[in-house]
Amino acid sequence: MAPPPASSRSGAGESLSGEESPAMRRLRRLSLHLLQPSPPADQVAESSLALAACAGRRVEGGADVAAALAAYLRGRHRAAQMRLFDFFRARPDLQTPVELTTAAHRELCFRQLRALVRDAGVRPLTLMANDPAEYFAVMEAAGGADISLGVKLGVQYSLWGGSVINLGTKKHRDKYFDGIDNLDYPGCFAMTELHHGSNVQALQTTATFDPVTDEFIINTPNDGAIKWWIGNAAVHGKFATVFARLILPLQGKGGEPADMGIHAFIVPIRDLETHDVLPGIEINDCGHKIGLNGVDNGALRFRSVRIPRDNLLNRFGDVSRDGKYTSSLPTINKRFAATLGELVGGRVGIAYCSVGVLKVAVTIAVRYALLRHQFGPPKQPEISVLDYQSHQHKLMPMLASSYAFHFATVQLVDKYSEMKKTSDEDLIADVHVLSSGLKAYITSYTAKSISICREACGGHGYAAVNRFGALRNDHDIFQTFEGDNTVLLQQVAGDLLKQYQEKFKGGTLSVTWNYLRDSMGTYLSQPNPVTARWEGEDHLRDPKFQLDAFRVSPLFIVTEICLMFTSCTDWKPSPQYRTSRLLHSVAARLQKHSKTLGGFGAWNRCLNHLLTLAESHIESVILAKFIESVKSCPDERTREVLKLVCDLYALDRIWKDIGTYRNVDYVAPNKAKAIHKLTDYLSYQVRLVAQELIDAFDLPDLIIRAPIGMQSEAYAQYTQYVGF
Ligand SMILES: Cc1cc2nc3c(=O)[nH]c(=O)nc-3n(C[C@H](O)[C@H](O)[C@H](O)COP(=O)(O)OP(=O)(O)OC[C@H]3O[C@@H](n4cnc5c(N)ncnc54)[C@H](O)[C@@H]3O)c2cc1C
Repeated sequence: MAPPPASSRSGAGESLSGEESPAMRRLRRLSLHLLQPSPPADQVAESSLALAACAGRRVEGGADVAAALAAYLRGRHRAAQMRLFDFFRARPDLQTPVELTTAAHRELCFRQLRALVRDAGVRPLTLMANDPAEYFAVMEAAGGADISLGVKLGVQYSLWGGSVINLGTKKHRDKYFDGIDNLDYPGCFAMTELHHGSNVQALQTTATFDPVTDEFIINTPNDGAIKWWIGNAAVHGKFATVFARLILPLQGKGGEPADMGIHAFIVPIRDLETHDVLPGIEINDCGHKIGLNGVDNGALRFRSVRIPRDNLLNRFGDVSRDGKYTSSLPTINKRFAATLGELVGGRVGIAYCSVGVLKVAVTIAVRYALLRHQFGPPKQPEISVLDYQSHQHKLMPMLASSYAFHFATVQLVDKYSEMKKTSDEDLIADVHVLSSGLKAYITSYTAKSISICREACGGHGYAAVNRFGALRNDHDIFQTFEGDNTVLLQQVAGDLLKQYQEKFKGGTLSVTWNYLRDSMGTYLSQPNPVTARWEGEDHLRDPKFQLDAFRVSPLFIVTEICLMFTSCTDWKPSPQYRTSRLLHSVAARLQKHSKTLGGFGAWNRCLNHLLTLAESHIESVILAKFIESVKSCPDERTREVLKLVCDLYALDRIWKDIGTYRNVDYVAPNKAKAIHKLTDYLSYQVRLVAQELIDAFDLPDLIIRAPIGMQSEAYAQYTQYVGF
């Protein structure tokens, strides 16, 4: 039989009575056994029958559930996405076939983008400037047609266009906006060099001002400074925003050249009419990649290429006719931070589109798991593979995560849109950290999940037509470009520690970190030997328990870091002690340890902990948004379904990190076991509405494309594809 839903096993009674009696404890343990999805051996036959029956079943009113969920998920710009889908549906000549050479894929991808702009009338740069949320929706939909197209669009508009409108001033907008928007000016974003990608401050390309001719001279001083991986450079680009060190001759100490740090310059790279590469510029092709072959990545070398002084994107720093440097920002570091800060939109887009890829992969895997029947009870029909507990364990937490990430990235896009309208420094800092953290966390999760989905589809998951190969390979680089994930997570950890330091000094916490103030209080009262043993379903499914568990976990880790930074031998696992040590001395300890190892060495010693800390923080942000989204859902039935999914997301994450919670006695052994059982049970419950949850993503077959993931007649479409 299917496991019955646990009724009231509230922890509240226990909190009132304090210690529980042995009888109560036994009773509760017994009730938890009822939660266990794997029935005892003598019940197997009965249970299997129920599972078999459940295979083809849809919950009562399932279509309504799916429709209500879809309505709640649907963003403000769904109509824009639907227009794009309709456009591609009507243009089979623009649909990406399964097999394609690199050259053909690049050409098709450019045709797709041109058709979107010129035939469908989409103006992505205008959207980005007026309503970033609609821009990201269009980018996600384009990525649904072909991930290469989404990235090509991102290179043209987020990167090349974004750098011009965000780092330049009015004169640049006036001159370039329309040409970028209507694709007359295809362009590149040339930051990365052969020797430096993540460490942008170490770039070596130079832009030396020549006061005689009023020009900058762009130069590649050595092979390590060749611009590498530059999207749109190999074939289509006519311009590039080139990131280079601004050098002012004679303005340094003793008449030496002054290095003013990294600035961005517009450099024409191909003739607008003939498309010939311009003099002094050498472009080579980065060649066939393991994915994203619709995007033409190239390498660029500059040999004394002259550009007018006006081509400096001068929002944060300018050079006058007589060669004097001016900036509203006092230091090179501040200018650098402002310059990179303006490019945050790229990361927002990647995080958002990564959720789109995850939804496609999960949709294919779940639809196939519902369709696929293997084995079953003796003399009974075979059962759907999604009725195997192991399959639920693989796919249901992933489905729950897709929902969690959906709400988190919608919030990120909203915050980004708000940020573009204000100059609120707190909001800018929030968006910077959130975009780094969500981009890193979500893209890593999606990359791993695509492989799990492939495996969950067995042999048929390996057919190229069923998409996992392309999804995996095209998406894989999302973990690296727009900021390597490991590097981005360190920015999150750095900001987290900075906030702690400010709090120690009596400062206030900025918006994103407000929860730390509350969780410090929570931490002072935990781990509590009583609550650490609560195992009732009501307690475990209480958002307060879940959020507290997520939020104290970074504190544990920071505490561990503190301990690593000290040679403390007298530490005892008293929560108050640990917290007070954390609150009053983390900054001092970091400082103390850096005296022997230096700041860099101390940081490196603790790097793995810092990365875990950053991930924990991001998980808590995601959960908080999910809980809020459940609460704000107006339709009761939809809210119930979302609550189920949210509980699975929360408890699965806690279970995956159970070692951390056990180590500090935040969770006693009985509670850990209860969390495990409840996670399995919730996976089973979510499986019962899996089809509705997938349908609510509202992804047309044109976007799914994999025959095994079609809404109907999947096997028939698959056999037809093969030629039967
Ligand atoms: C398909 C593709 C398209 C691209 N498009 C563009 C483009 O259009 N324009 C552009 O300018 N660039 C582009 N890039 C470059 C991309 O942005 C860089 O590859 C990326 O920023 C990472 O830099 P890197 O390759 O130098 O990696 P590295 O920084 O060398 O990283 C290598 C490894 O070292 C680790 N590592 C590095 N620093 C640290 C640290 N501090 N702590 C711990 N670990 C560390 C990283 O985690 C990584 O695993 C593209 C790249 C690809 C592959």
